[in-house]
Amino acid sequence: MFRIGQGYDVHRLVEDRELWICGVKIPHTHGLLGHSDADVAIHALCDALLGALALGDIGKHFPDSDPRYKGIDSKILLGHVMGLIREMGYDLVNCDITICAEAPKFRPYIDAMRATLAEVMAADVSNVSVKATTTERLGFTGRREGIAAMAVCLLQKA
Ligand code: MG
Repeated sequence: MFRIGQGYDVHRLVEDRELWICGVKIPHTHGLLGHSDADVAIHALCDALLGALALGDIGKHFPDSDPRYKGIDSKILLGHVMGLIREMGYDLVNCDITICAEAPKFRPYIDAMRATLAEVMAADVSNVSVKATTTERLGFTGRREGIAAMAVCLLQKA
């Protein structure tokens, strides 16, 4: 029994915020704005995981009106989502994330991102893929106004 899911998220880049992507803090002139730590890639991944089991979206589970989630580390949200999935008798087969950003360059951080996500998800790192692309200076990501992330995942009944 297999289930697939996909997720998408966008956050605005602003000054005076830390940049957290896939649970890793990345040195940059700007960071992402949001109620939580605004880790756009983890949010897309959570939506993919929730979507695979038709459990709604991250906003339903962790409303941004709830002060408990203000500034929260998105790794905690991801851990919670994985708990829900395992409660329902499923486990991760694999997931694949694409980050769309003009800057910074993510290549030096990809291994750390994969290892971080794999640890939070209690998954093998070989089943956790993270990729990054620019959008050739086109659109809001190309103008460095924000960062977008897409994720897909496959779950299997344990
Ligand atoms: Mg988000």
